[in-house]
Amino acid sequence: MRELQGIGVSPGLVRGVVARLAPAPVLPDALVPDGDLETELSHTSAAFEKVAHELGELSASVSAEVRNIISAQVAIALDPVLKEKISDLVHQGVAGPYAVRDALAGFRDQLLAAGGYLAERAADLDDLAERVIATILGEPMPGIPVRSEPFVLVAADLSPADTASLDTSKVLAIVTEAGGPTSHTAIIAKSLGIPAVVACKGAAELTDGDDVLVDGSLGKVIIDPSLRQVEERTQNFAKRRMAMSSVSGPGRTADGYPVQLLVNVGTRKDFAASARIDSEGVGLFRTEFLFLERASAPTLDEQRDVYRELFEAFTGRKVIVRTLDAGADKPLAFVKAAEEPNPALGVRGFRTYASNPELLEEQLRAISRAAASSGADVWVMAPMVSSPAEAAVFAGLAHGAGLPNAGSMVEVPAAALRAGDLIGECDFLSVGTNDLSQYTFAADRETGVLAELLDPWQPALLELVRFAAEAGRRAGKPVGVCGEAASDPILALVLVGLGVSSLSMAPVSVAPVRAEIARHDYRECERLATLALAAKDGFAARSAVHAEIYGDSLVP
Ligand code: PEP
Ligand code: MG
Repeated sequence: MRELQGIGVSPGLVRGVVARLAPAPVLPDALVPDGDLETELSHTSAAFEKVAHELGELSASVSAEVRNIISAQVAIALDPVLKEKISDLVHQGVAGPYAVRDALAGFRDQLLAAGGYLAERAADLDDLAERVIATILGEPMPGIPVRSEPFVLVAADLSPADTASLDTSKVLAIVTEAGGPTSHTAIIAKSLGIPAVVACKGAAELTDGDDVLVDGSLGKVIIDPSLRQVEERTQNFAKRRMAMSSVSGPGRTADGYPVQLLVNVGTRKDFAASARIDSEGVGLFRTEFLFLERASAPTLDEQRDVYRELFEAFTGRKVIVRTLDAGADKPLAFVKAAEEPNPALGVRGFRTYASNPELLEEQLRAISRAAASSGADVWVMAPMVSSPAEAAVFAGLAHGAGLPNAGSMVEVPAAALRAGDLIGECDFLSVGTNDLSQYTFAADRETGVLAELLDPWQPALLELVRFAAEAGRRAGKPVGVCGEAASDPILALVLVGLGVSSLSMAPVSVAPVRAEIARHDYRECERLATLALAAKDGFAARSAVHAEIYGDSLVP
């Protein structure tokens, strides 16, 4: 039995068998076939047949959506035109793996040129090429493993697109070596309800077939757990769950001060489940998550339909839609962008409006049309707003599209420092503590080693939240927090004490946050906020608040 420690970013306790995500195969240097051309060709054809056979076997045990993709891959693998193309290339002296890559790249380009749904399938051809090349080279199968039994996915890192496309009936938990607590991969895992541990030292040692117990709350991965450990941890987990479910309804402190509790929503898969959560609505709908794999921009009608689906699920409740936050670690293929040396500081979020004005204008029209035919109270906000002028432009566009509540996210220190000016130009603010800490500490949120700087308890970050909350109070307009900070129940008390009017979080976090807020009155929250602000660093802030509530300090 061994134990690995990482950062728990999505709660839950599961036991399962490891399946690793293997990297894409590296092509050998030899550019010409090894042996005679016919042998090269027959190896290549055999690899296609093997891959087609394996994929065919898998398709029996996957969801209908994945099955359709696999069937198309099998059909392409056995396609006579592709076979002929590869035969031509090999006869011209191109080595098998290169012939596979080039022939499938040709098909891929044709799909991309066709646009729409066909362009969406281009990535499936890359996946097929990698599988066939790995088979020729005798390397492990790359990409998200496809297994008939559920498994614990272990990887060096995952992209947001990989995570968003995971089959939730198969992936029990995620463990990665890299990644920070506010990385988009961690956020998507949490929204899908998949327990996850990131920045897990030693995850590289885990191999296919290892038996592990993953605790996504405490960030632990136990290899070969004993029966006693499984039982103990399961009981503790069940107790924590019971305590949370004892309170329900709108968020209130013990003395009745209202704090709106909202959910963060991203992929279409979590619409229905997040609507079933006892919350007052959606505080952050990350629309870019819907389109991470799209090669071409979604049409107005497509957008209207998907937004309407969410609005209908939240009839009678508030839904804050964030317009596309493209760029940095969430590139969208259809958003025109120049090559940038430092994309997190480049043209992302609202800044893309200058180069892609029609995209934002069309999105606002789609939101407005979906809102008009639904019973939800739809608000909109823009990501990465840095100045009052940007806030004003966005509010003007949204109001012009018939959306009366238009806000700005506060994710850049300049926006927090001048929150009073910003809120003067729009209807509300929502503090994105994930990016706000990244930009306050100049620490890349994707990098696990900088997790201490990115700790949402850092007093410098809390000070900026206070600026925004006070600006809201002075203006009489709402200011919420929708970054991951809002999902820590004890930190939520501090945020309430700093004066924010709402907290938006992953659906799994609503019950524990509601239960904690209900145990404290408003004055106590203010006192906790003062303690946290007076601390020197994140650990000291957490420790001071913890000592005040529980009467004991944390051990560093
Ligand atoms: C944030 O930055 O805190 C936020 C909510 O936006 P995202 O995590 O999607 O960047
Ligand atoms: Mg952000």
